[in-house]
Amino acid sequence: MILALFLILLSASSGNCAAHGEMAILTAENAAAPPGAVLLVMDGVGASYVYPEFQAYSITGRPIPGIKLLNLTSRGARVLDLRVPVPSTSPAHSVLVTGQRDADEALVGTGSTVFDTLREEGFLCLALLQRGDFQNMLEEQDGVVYFEDNSLCGDPTLGARADLPPSVQLMLQQWRNAFAAYAGSSYARYNRWGLDAAADMVGRLDQPFFLLVNIGGADSAAHARGADQYLETISALDAPLGRLMEACQEKGVLLGVTADHGMSFSNRGGHASAQYAERLESLRIPLVFVGDPADDLILDGIWSQTAVAPTLLRLLGIDDPRFPADRALPLARLARLTVLLQGPQSVELNGTDLKAIKGSGSSAYRFEGLKRGTYTVKALDASHRVDVISDQVLDLRRVDQASARQDGEPFVPRWMVGSALIVLINLAGLLVVWRVWRGG
Ligand SMILES: [Zn+2]
Repeated sequence: MILALFLILLSASSGNCAAHGEMAILTAENAAAPPGAVLLVMDGVGASYVYPEFQAYSITGRPIPGIKLLNLTSRGARVLDLRVPVPSTSPAHSVLVTGQRDADEALVGTGSTVFDTLREEGFLCLALLQRGDFQNMLEEQDGVVYFEDNSLCGDPTLGARADLPPSVQLMLQQWRNAFAAYAGSSYARYNRWGLDAAADMVGRLDQPFFLLVNIGGADSAAHARGADQYLETISALDAPLGRLMEACQEKGVLLGVTADHGMSFSNRGGHASAQYAERLESLRIPLVFVGDPADDLILDGIWSQTAVAPTLLRLLGIDDPRFPADRALPLARLARLTVLLQGPQSVELNGTDLKAIKGSGSSAYRFEGLKRGTYTVKALDASHRVDVISDQVLDLRRVDQASARQDGEPFVPRWMVGSALIVLINLAGLLVVWRVWRGG
């Protein structure tokens, strides 16, 4: 495929960029930014029950069968082992929207959420929240339909800012009223309301939007009725989830699917109290991103729920120092390469299938939209080969002067450190195996 080549020179003066002076941004393949995003939070759905790689056990050691959610696990960028800092609803929801490990309800009200960032970028922030959610979370929304309690027959409430477009207000009103047809005794139907509403709204919204959907059925089923009802409720998610994915795909909308925390079982389910909180069934949650900015891959390694917010913004192509891109998980289909120089210099990037991209007059460049491959960076009268696998930094400030660190520590993405550690641990393991084998 012939690459569409665009040369855009922008200057940004915020965040990491500010530390290096002006950052020149040059874009190779201009992937269209999604017109919106949906983040689906399946309350209480642990990865142990829905990922084919895992086996769940009750606290007495009884195996619990898993559920196949093909629409969740068969496409997009899937993170294998993502763990929550606190397996409890309010803190976990706070972590999801702030990316902060110690986040709580109070922090959500201080201008530190993805909603604040997205609103500044012109996105409308909407939410469908079963299981209530707290006041600060509700106040972050331009428009929200929420439930005061966890009752399956609940009467949802509509909240909207004065400037919410009337057409969007009407949409929310229609779905609040439609809940009556879903209410009853089934946790699966309760969940389906959220997924059906989201799919319909994705199809109808015609301005940039971020829709947060929290479906509470599985969590309630686990607490009130135990493992069988929990699994049955999760199993019923697959079909409506598929319809939501189709709706997103049709509009080019980015879809993220995750959970706030997992679930463990004795007779009934639990996750926050002492006997459950340390268990992997409570700590491990699914995370899948589907949509053009996300690659098709399974990401190995152990990660934290704090990465969800920066990853969402990275995939939407939004830069915000409150959510540094180096904290995003490497899930993007197209990578970025940052080149840092001693002072203002010209630079040239070459690669297979890539017409040379040139820039001049800056000491920091960011090349956006790069396919995986080997590139050559020409700067300071030298050529540097760089294998671009995911976002990375070529720091040429240290070439002539090892002590030139006036901007602080060089920027090394955490996943790189993590990968290096994993390789080391594996090597150590192999060494042990080899010694045992030799010894035997
Ligand atoms: Zn929860």
